[in-house]
Amino acid sequence: MAKGLEGKTREGRPVPLKALGLSLLALTAPVVGALAAPEWMEQESGVLLWLTALIPPFLLTYYRGWRGASLGLAGGMAALSIAHALTVILDMGQPDFRVLFWMVSTYLVVCVGIGVLAEVLRRERAAAESMALTDPLTQIPNRRHASIFLDAAFAAAVRGEPLSVVLMDLDRFKAVNDTHGHKAGDEVLMAFASALTRVTRRMDLSCRWGGEEFLTVLYNCDAEGAKIFLGRLRDAFREEEIPVPPVTFSAGIAQYASGMGSVDVMIAAADQALYEAKEAGRNRWEVASPPQVEVDVGLEEEAVGGPDPLGEVSTRLRAGADEQGLAFDPDSEVSRPVGFEGARARDEGAERILVVDDDPETRRGMARVLRRLGYEVLEAPDGPSGLATARSLPRVDLVVTDLVMPGMSGFRFVSRLEAERGPVRVLYVTGHSSGGVGWSAAPGACSAYLSKPLEVEDLASRVRELLDQSLPPVPSTPL
Ligand code: GH3
Ligand code: MG
Ligand code: MG
Repeated sequence: MAKGLEGKTREGRPVPLKALGLSLLALTAPVVGALAAPEWMEQESGVLLWLTALIPPFLLTYYRGWRGASLGLAGGMAALSIAHALTVILDMGQPDFRVLFWMVSTYLVVCVGIGVLAEVLRRERAAAESMALTDPLTQIPNRRHASIFLDAAFAAAVRGEPLSVVLMDLDRFKAVNDTHGHKAGDEVLMAFASALTRVTRRMDLSCRWGGEEFLTVLYNCDAEGAKIFLGRLRDAFREEEIPVPPVTFSAGIAQYASGMGSVDVMIAAADQALYEAKEAGRNRWEVASPPQVEVDVGLEEEAVGGPDPLGEVSTRLRAGADEQGLAFDPDSEVSRPVGFEGARARDEGAERILVVDDDPETRRGMARVLRRLGYEVLEAPDGPSGLATARSLPRVDLVVTDLVMPGMSGFRFVSRLEAERGPVRVLYVTGHSSGGVGWSAAPGACSAYLSKPLEVEDLASRVRELLDQSLPPVPSTPL
């Protein structure tokens, strides 16, 4: 209920002028009819003109939900009453209240029916709009559109086509909003989108990734090509007229490399490079560092997987909950299965794991499984709160983090954490992978990847393996 209401107020868009005009016309029709031909209005053929009072409730409900319905109803009732009164007065007949009663009741019943139908249509339209692929402000593709495009481009990259992604973020954009207002900020965003559209080739795709972040997918293009693209973009953005002093942008480039087995890894790598560009002073771009050692993912997978440590134990509690990123039911009350290696005692209690994921279902699911295995688990919905949680703890033995999260990617979160606390063990959780994931340039002293949908046994064994690895010693603040 609360959700529905919230949806309506958020939508609160103006009713199109055409619909308003048509509603007014429909309301005046019976009144004009009553004035012009009161006798005819009481005949069967005249009934059609009374029926036009049904149009406003229908149109207004479609655009404004139940508020529109009540407005349309009130207008329709008023029009009908005035028209009926005029008919009676001008026709000099006796007022027939039975006719009025039946007319009004029929009108009400039909209106409620129409209202329900229009409300259903309105909700469907709102859902369809939210599924759409264009960003409403800048009119360029949105994140959803880019994800679809990126999935296809990534599959080609795995098969050997060069592919680069560029993540861009306007510099000190908060200050633009604060100094010149949100409207000016919006105009800058539109100008940037326009420059981006001008320099993006038809085979590539640029989108608004969110807020003041934009993403370009460069097909058949390496990091050097991406730099040329960014040079063109910088020139094009300078040519745009904006209502504020010149605004610059920073960018992170990631070129597909062996081991980036999922789109998430590539985006997080670009985000990490973008962060480095910001750190280095903004108005520049950085390329995600290539892996130090060429990783043969197939071999690595085998080495890590090895003989199944869990033997015959099947812990797949419920298969197929793909959308949640889980292949098991997090609410299942199945107790710790035999054969699982769970937590070991540390100096102060059990091993401590910090789980960071913006998707509550996946986060809760992972946390429950790990708790069942005896670990002490803390949860955070995003990078910044993950950092805050870590700061409050003397020791974190392992971090399990999603890769692509709004605002701060998993890579960036781990970089920040390592900068603050020293070496960290990390298990990265990525979206559906199209190849072996094991990008070795990722931050984290010891790291591993896990692809969604997650299986309990994979989660348990990867966590145990990571915890069994020793971290490089740090003299001052051990993690
Ligand atoms: P940095 O150089 O580090 O990127 O600094 P910044 O100020 O750009 O960083 P931050 O990410 O903190 O600020 C982003 C701001 O972008 C915050 C928000 O007000 C603004 N913003 C996000 N979406 C929109 C939008 O649709 N319109 C406008 N006008 N502003 C937006
Ligand atoms: Mg930003
Ligand atoms: Mg910014």
